[in-house]
Amino acid sequence: MLIVKKFGGSSVADKERVYNVANRILEDYKKGNDVVVVLSAQGKTTDQLIAKAKEINPNPSRREMDMLLTTGEQISVALMAMALEKLGVPAVSLNAFQVAMHTTSVYSNARIKRIDTERITTELENKKIVIITGFQGVNKFDDYTTLGRGGSDTTAVALAAALHADACEIYTDVEGVYTADPRVVPNARKLEEISYDEMLELATLGAKVLHNRSVELAKKYNVQLVVLSSLVVADGTIVKEETKVEKMLVSGVAADKNTTRIAVMGVKDEPGIAFKLFSLLAKNNINVDIILQSIGRDGTKDISFTVASDFAAEAKQIIEANLARLSGEKVTVEDNVAKVSVVGAGMQTNAGVAATMFEALYDAGINIKMISTSEIKITVLIDEKDVNEATQAVHEAFKLARK
Ligand code: ASP
Ligand code: MG
Repeated sequence: MLIVKKFGGSSVADKERVYNVANRILEDYKKGNDVVVVLSAQGKTTDQLIAKAKEINPNPSRREMDMLLTTGEQISVALMAMALEKLGVPAVSLNAFQVAMHTTSVYSNARIKRIDTERITTELENKKIVIITGFQGVNKFDDYTTLGRGGSDTTAVALAAALHADACEIYTDVEGVYTADPRVVPNARKLEEISYDEMLELATLGAKVLHNRSVELAKKYNVQLVVLSSLVVADGTIVKEETKVEKMLVSGVAADKNTTRIAVMGVKDEPGIAFKLFSLLAKNNINVDIILQSIGRDGTKDISFTVASDFAAEAKQIIEANLARLSGEKVTVEDNVAKVSVVGAGMQTNAGVAATMFEALYDAGINIKMISTSEIKITVLIDEKDVNEATQAVHEAFKLARK
């Protein structure tokens, strides 16, 4: 069997954890499997590197950020290979250049285009455990890129697809995918399995257990994933195409504080304005989430939308530079907002899910600022200070707690 195993930053945070992971890898290797390991940067390394950068320059270019952040993963893979050497097993660490992990050129948010598998295959044939840097790639300019925060999951899935692996295991510091973040909702329940579509929504909406692109790739290439703990031996959550015949009405509640609302005030109430605004943002690789347009009054209207907070300053700057062309009066930015979402495949055939969610928020005295829905999710934007209370209230309303 060829197994791809990915370990997150907390799973390799210190010497003990590195050896704990090395021993788990070893178990699979000793059974005669080919093992490819993908690692994140140790512990809070990536956050620390970001802080270090901001000390030097509060607005560093994305290219230089990627140059800096890729060092974190390189440390992890080298240390893991050394630990395996010490345990007497042949291992080799490889970075994105050595593998040749080709991505698009968008720094800090690149997408994997193609992976050369030759080097990896050769190392496996030589009976080596191959340890690969997560999160990083190489673009057409021969520069490092990164795949966005949490992107090591995507590296693992892309490798599993490219190598036609028999299993793709994502190890983390929780035991799987829960109905809500167990730190916020202590009686949240671990799901045995979840569909790609539901997982994709949860990941996109702020459940931090998997990078959303990794789920997209897994669905595209039909890579079945298992999310499980690197510390506890227990069944994890399986992410796959079909889940049980009985579709869950709601399978989880996700929250995301990393969101900012931007409003463009007083634009002309005429065709083409929304097109100009959002194509401008798209051209600059800024993803927009919930969009709300006010009713026109005296020939003008307001358009507001949310973006990931890291892109807010850039979005504001771009809009301000184009304010005249957009016929806008001013741009406002509100950062103390958060999204809370419910996700469930069963929603499609069940009325009343939105009402249940809104009632729970009303009972908790929480005001809704924006709403967005799709076939399998409902998202509300609320004050950031209310986010935990809202998550608990909604989780309770849908009776998702552990029995
Ligand atoms: N080290 C990167 C991050 O902290 C990538 C990852 O952990 O997946 O976002
Ligand atoms: Mg992660």
